[in-house]
Amino acid sequence: MVGKDCFFDARRKKKEIDRGFAGNLVADIQQKIIPGVTHWQSPNYFAYYPSNSSTAGFLGEMLSAAFNIVGFSWITSPAATELEVIVLDWFAKMLQLPSQFLSTALGGGVIQGTASEAVLVALLAARDRALKKHGKHSLEKLVVYASDQTHSALQKACQIAGIFSENVRVVIADCNKNYAVAPEAVSEALSIDLSSGLIPFFICATVGTTSSSAVDPLPELGQIAKSNDMWFHIDAAYAGSACICPEYRHHLNGVEEADSFNMNAHKWFLTNFDCSLLWVKDRSFLIQSLSTNPEFLKNKASQANSVVDFKDWQIPLGRRFRSLKLWMVLRLYGVDNLQSYIRKHIHLAEHFEQLLLSDSRFEVVTPRTFSLVCFRLVPPTSDHENGRKLNYDMMDGVNSSGKIFLSHTVLSGKFVLRFAVGAPLTEERHVDAAWKLLQDEATKVLGKMV
Ligand code: PLP
Repeated sequence: MVGKDCFFDARRKKKEIDRGFAGNLVADIQQKIIPGVTHWQSPNYFAYYPSNSSTAGFLGEMLSAAFNIVGFSWITSPAATELEVIVLDWFAKMLQLPSQFLSTALGGGVIQGTASEAVLVALLAARDRALKKHGKHSLEKLVVYASDQTHSALQKACQIAGIFSENVRVVIADCNKNYAVAPEAVSEALSIDLSSGLIPFFICATVGTTSSSAVDPLPELGQIAKSNDMWFHIDAAYAGSACICPEYRHHLNGVEEADSFNMNAHKWFLTNFDCSLLWVKDRSFLIQSLSTNPEFLKNKASQANSVVDFKDWQIPLGRRFRSLKLWMVLRLYGVDNLQSYIRKHIHLAEHFEQLLLSDSRFEVVTPRTFSLVCFRLVPPTSDHENGRKLNYDMMDGVNSSGKIFLSHTVLSGKFVLRFAVGAPLTEERHVDAAWKLLQDEATKVLGKMV
């Protein structure tokens, strides 16, 4: 075949191929993709910690996709950088962070992808600050302090930052204080390290630990960090959102001593994934650790040092226009509505806790602080293995029904179920239905034991 015929044949073939790809697309999404999706936005989703989306967040995400900018330096899309600076300053004020964290002072905020990236960049800045002070060959002496309830993101950050694994001090949290770390235990570990010639340089505290929402004692840990010239990082990935409500803000008391503070707006703040907010008190430490200045990125604004180039505050070069969705959430909902949203989830968690207390077969394992309830079915004997099997089977039973989704943790050897309220559409009737399902499953698994 030659000439025109060949052209028409190619066009016919292309149409056939396009039909093949596009024709069944919607059906394929329904039949092949959706059955494999875990519905984090479902009102019956109670696992891990929430990941809220919203119309405002979605619209911001859509606009960002439409612009599709890659805003590594100010010049690559000035609005992206400028909006990020403005929105993070607004947010810092909403959380009543100390004024040093504002862009108008020496600090500032930046959007990272995740809390894991946030703690990594903070650790890199802290490491380099310590190496500058103690000499570049002192890496093997640098020690990090955290609790056994600190998120594993810190351990990964230490691995990446080259901190010696034997110098990651994991202090056992206090089970009598809802698994918050005891400052005395940190001080004790630190004294031993100092007397061995090691260099304590980083403390990570958590507001809202992943297992049980414990709040570490920030004022005391901050003082320890200050007295020993250490970097103090606060991970409030989940519970930071609650601190926009005056009645929960006290959980951030002590943030004055922090060098860096992080919370995920993509968890409990109606902002679509990903949007992790990191503030630092002195941006120069981040920039010294993370900046590069190759010829091909040089430009008048950056050279004049008159603009922010967020490429120097993060690991990758490229970055999305993520502040748009957070801006939309703040503009379209406003602080009052966002506070009500948080309170609604906490109220639903309280309601679930009351339901648990009404059935003596169950126990609330740790006091509830925010919207997470840690509970279990009380095993007939105190043997941990027995309790594990009973509660694992109950969790497996309700999760396999496909009606709700819960996750678990282990606290002091006990297998514990976590009921985290936070999906945008969850109402009391969903909590009641989940409770009924759990009660029925409890009857089943207890019945099998006798
Ligand atoms: N820190 C805390 C307290 C968390 O609960 C989580 C995740 O749930 C993380 C850090 C890690 O979050 P990311 O996935 O944003 O790295």
